[in-house]
Amino acid sequence: MKHLFVTLLLIASLVAAGCSAPAGTAVPGAVSQAPESEFILNESIHSGDDFYAYVNDAWIAEHPIPPDKQYYAVFTGMRDGVDDDLHALLLNASAAPTQDGDRNTTLIGQFYRSGMDAGTIDQEGLGGLSDLLSAIDAIDSRVGLANATIVLLEEGFGPVYHYWAEVNPENSSEMVPALYQGGLGLPDRDYYFRNDTESLEVQEAYREHIARVLVLAGEPVEEAAADTSTVYAMERALAAAHLSAEENRDPQKTTNIYTLAELEEEFPAIGWGTLATISGSGPVSRMHIYQPGYVEGLNGLLETAPLEDWKIYLRYRLIDQASPYLNASFEEEHFAFYETTLYGVPEMKSRWQRVVNTESELLGDLVGREYVAEYVDPRTREMVSGIFLAIRETFDERITGLAWMSEPTKAAAHEKLAAMGEKIAYPDRWTDYSGLNLSDSYVGNVRAAKAHSLIHGPEGLEQIGGPVDRSVWFIPPQMVNAFYDPTRNEMVFPAGILQPPIFDPDRDPALNYATLGWVIGHEMTHGFDDQGRQYDRDGNLKDWWTEEDAANFNNRTALLVAEYNAFEALPGLYVNGNLTLGENIADLGGLTLAYHAWKKTENPSDDPDADRRFFIGAATLWRANDREDSLRNLVLTDPHSPEKFRVNGVLFNIPEFYEAFPEIGSGDALYRAAGERPSIW
Ligand SMILES: [Zn+2]
Repeated sequence: MKHLFVTLLLIASLVAAGCSAPAGTAVPGAVSQAPESEFILNESIHSGDDFYAYVNDAWIAEHPIPPDKQYYAVFTGMRDGVDDDLHALLLNASAAPTQDGDRNTTLIGQFYRSGMDAGTIDQEGLGGLSDLLSAIDAIDSRVGLANATIVLLEEGFGPVYHYWAEVNPENSSEMVPALYQGGLGLPDRDYYFRNDTESLEVQEAYREHIARVLVLAGEPVEEAAADTSTVYAMERALAAAHLSAEENRDPQKTTNIYTLAELEEEFPAIGWGTLATISGSGPVSRMHIYQPGYVEGLNGLLETAPLEDWKIYLRYRLIDQASPYLNASFEEEHFAFYETTLYGVPEMKSRWQRVVNTESELLGDLVGREYVAEYVDPRTREMVSGIFLAIRETFDERITGLAWMSEPTKAAAHEKLAAMGEKIAYPDRWTDYSGLNLSDSYVGNVRAAKAHSLIHGPEGLEQIGGPVDRSVWFIPPQMVNAFYDPTRNEMVFPAGILQPPIFDPDRDPALNYATLGWVIGHEMTHGFDDQGRQYDRDGNLKDWWTEEDAANFNNRTALLVAEYNAFEALPGLYVNGNLTLGENIADLGGLTLAYHAWKKTENPSDDPDADRRFFIGAATLWRANDREDSLRNLVLTDPHSPEKFRVNGVLFNIPEFYEAFPEIGSGDALYRAAGERPSIW
């Protein structure tokens, strides 16, 4: 769960966005030194006015958004490729004989078959949830209510919060359970409270969605209308206790370690005793509560809201969360609101793609292990390690050279960098699925996989109370993404992202550094962004900065906040410079590190055309076509800036960029005077 909330390279909510469609997004290879001939530049735009458009317009025109996607980016094409590979694997596994085949193959084949069997799914109706619906119906006390929320959690449908095992941010040698706010059907708390026309329309569409789901579940129309008000009011009350996306980026605010006794004393209605003794969980003594205000709000509602209201709410939550795995009516209704209304996507992906994405997410390592064996070049790790080491060395040298930082803070920064771990391509040890049993029921298999993962997965509760397992991977190798974890002080680069056009062993190193180098530098810089810098070398939330150095850092990042606040993503909708600060620091630091690391390799470093190629190559990393609805949601909720600003916001802060493009000058739209360019890492 944690990885859904912090420091990913790309926006996290993309499970729904993989797919078919054109795959050809590769930057044309060519080790040829022909300067820019392999790029189709839009010469009608002056590079200094919009470098992103100058480099990417031709590609953007050639890559319209397929009807089943939220947007189309370089990473979308990579995901399509991975989906095709996984599809082939799963088809194979599902065709294999189940008797003498290997157990892992049997499981992934079984899951896939159940997902593709629309006939059985149709017949089953809500039957695959009947035990849970009965458990909700049977609630007749406050204790019974708390217990029902935990039964749902154990089956993968945590209705009111997220719960998983993680490193204790105040003592990074121990594993504790973590609890994170939840309970909402809209993407973020603010969706319930905004009053502009667009937001009011989304609120109304959401209420209509709730009513339609309830009717599909068998309620008469009038009853569904009344229940809709109950569900919406409950969510709104929970939302009122949520922290905002921006507040959730503050580790001081979200690091709150409680003993179990303190929790029972302060918030007695949650059912801590039941939660702490979930079957398979390690022994709980302390818990990381991300948002105590939320737990307080939830506690109040569990104590005072009518039990009948809670039953209506829990029933709806369960069915809505399970809808993607139920029959076509539920699935289509879910799609209509969550993809079409919120993100503007007109068409559902084909069935195989939906099943492949679900299976890859829920049985990550099981699928990943086969994927690695079949599709990952065994040389990848070593080749990527070379780039990684070059970038870390460059970072180390730049820390030494920082004019704004004192020696004691530099010494601690060097230590933190040296201690930072890296995981490349795929794990050495895989999640054990020997306890997982599947059936012919798709929703049953989804439940089984989620329940297994809650205990035995990478963030499984069985780890609580034990030592920190350094071999754990939080995201499976087939994922096209990357991330940094501050409490483990480590980066993860799965095989999925170590492919063309991000990385190609046979290509000009300038381009590998510009794209993969940027990705690696980005994650490394996260350890030193406004959040990451608050953790020490061992991953403890502990200040290692002198006051003056911290003030210098903040003065520099303030320039970045102001810069991004001025970017207009859609008419009247501006980027939130505070929400996106960590990502923007990582983007700026990342490309700076990649550039200087590349300049130290044995390349034609004096050739001015090589530098142009580097920056043009970098600008291709973020090219994308976005739907307006999708972009609006991104700006309102996501800590990443829209793609265009990930290019234009960064390049114009790098002095060497101006040297490579002498035609860019002070009269240009994006030109920034030397004094306005934040230089941090
Ligand atoms: Zn990031």
